[in-house]
Amino acid sequence: MLEDFIKSQIRDSGPMDVGAYMSIVLGHPEHGYYMRKDPFGSGGDFTTAPEISQMFGEILAAWLADVWMKIGAPVEWRLLECGPGRGTLMADILRVFKAIGVAAPAPYLMEMSPVLRAIQEANLSDVNATWVYSADELPEDDGIPMIVIANEFLDALPFAQLQKIGDDWCERIVALDKKGDGLCFNLTPFKGAMPEVVASDGAVFEFSPEREEFVADMRERAVAGLFIDYGHVEAGAGDTFQALYKHEHVGVFEHIGDADLTSHVDFSVFSGVELAEQGAFLKSLGIEARAEVLRPKAPIDVDAALLRLVSDEQMGKLFKVMGFCSDENIRLAGF
Ligand code: SAH
Repeated sequence: MLEDFIKSQIRDSGPMDVGAYMSIVLGHPEHGYYMRKDPFGSGGDFTTAPEISQMFGEILAAWLADVWMKIGAPVEWRLLECGPGRGTLMADILRVFKAIGVAAPAPYLMEMSPVLRAIQEANLSDVNATWVYSADELPEDDGIPMIVIANEFLDALPFAQLQKIGDDWCERIVALDKKGDGLCFNLTPFKGAMPEVVASDGAVFEFSPEREEFVADMRERAVAGLFIDYGHVEAGAGDTFQALYKHEHVGVFEHIGDADLTSHVDFSVFSGVELAEQGAFLKSLGIEARAEVLRPKAPIDVDAALLRLVSDEQMGKLFKVMGFCSDENIRLAGF
């Protein structure tokens, strides 16, 4: 269905860039991956940190509580989560706030998927949340401070791929194959600024104006924020375009609309931010102590979850935490 739509688009208007392909596959109003699927957990395509253990959300709640106190513990404040998935992270955070006496924030959830919005509503039924599609719908700057969080959101925003051919960089585009019935990559001359990275012939370089603009906009609107995602903190070449289907890597032209499409986030493009590896960040905020407390009473295997979240071999090193605060005098915890 979606594949036919993409092919007819290419037949009508020519090849599309990687970002356009990704936007259609994930966000097509009717057939897009996120628009009609609950992708999470063992029955889905991938499992995220909040779905692994409540400890993840609890630690983020501690980070948020610390920032909230440092900005003066405002009674009225806003908490925005971008791409809240099933609403698990927000539910865990709000439960902690209640327990430790943080003033209940007005939660805003930025979500494009009707399927996931419905799940979030069910999981946050006791919360008076506001759903938005984009930042334009957020309240204008009215002096009420906002803090933003997002886990595995940036990786879902479109990105572009360049490939080095001899001394030049070309843009990778999605085209029809020679027979005209399959999709393949093709190359077109690239007219933008050349990336300043050392790369050998054939190497791929990725960049994402959408991610950069999104983060810049959030830094204008929010006093502080936390973005967590898989990615790298140093610029470099590498093809990280990936499709995940039922917890397996598949080709990016396979299971179109049924497989998740992402790429690693290049955190090196953000300046004036704090960066840490997820494992180090969670440990410095006390996840091991929390595991001690939960171990005797938790129905799931706390140690396996802890290991998954923090160990170098699993999520601990690959996932990065990016924090920012508009007040230079505030030192963010965990970095
Ligand atoms: N944070 C959640 C879900 C991560 S998956 C977790 O950690 O479990 C990505 C989420 O972002 C999904 O909820 C998806 O529907 C949403 N999303 C992706 N692109 C979006 C966009 N452009 N606008 C709004 N939401 C988007």
